Amino acid sequence: MKKRISLDCDGVIADVRGFFSNYFSNHFGERPSEELMGAIIGNRLQKYSQEIGLDYGELSNFMKDYNQKLFTSLSDLEPIKGAREGIEKLLQEGMDVRVNSYRPSVYGGINQDIKQITQEWFRENGIYIPFALAESKKAKIDSINYGRYSFHVDDDSAILDDITFKIEPILFNQELKQKNRKYSSFDSWKELTKYLTGEQYGSEK
Ligand SMILES: [Mg+2]
Repeated sequence: MKKRISLDCDGVIADVRGFFSNYFSNHFGERPSEELMGAIIGNRLQKYSQEIGLDYGELSNFMKDYNQKLFTSLSDLEPIKGAREGIEKLLQEGMDVRVNSYRPSVYGGINQDIKQITQEWFRENGIYIPFALAESKKAKIDSINYGRYSFHVDDDSAILDDITFKIEPILFNQELKQKNRKYSSFDSWKELTKYLTGEQYGSEK
């Protein structure tokens, strides 16, 4: 049977981290630390801002602006280094690769054709795989769990926590890679591709 692989989009294929980092440094004049990135991804921003003595009000206002900006800039995101090549490799190996992403069509009172934006982005970046966009995290998780996948790759460990036991969860996340012992974790497409194709074991094709 064909191996079915489910991929998250933002943070796995589209480089939201790079976008955030640029937006942050335009605002604060310096790059965000890995700890801050980790706190944002892990929803620990309030606790983290207390720890380092940052004004949580200012930080959370900044995050609101950022989320709005990200929502209207999805077509400007860069692909993550190696994502296109990695996906091509998986397809060459005969795998069935699909995207399952939480990308709502409304944010902050703005409504946009999220499907068309996403479709054009994939085409412009030379990535040709089917995608399913969910309006809620719950809908995304359902779509993965009922999709008969062998793997799901995500940068959000909370999503992986809700994946059915039949699917192997894989974490793709720079900041959480070192800290997460629960899942197989990668921070580069090169390593991820090796893992998914079984190459790191030196297995024959
Ligand atoms: Mg993501």
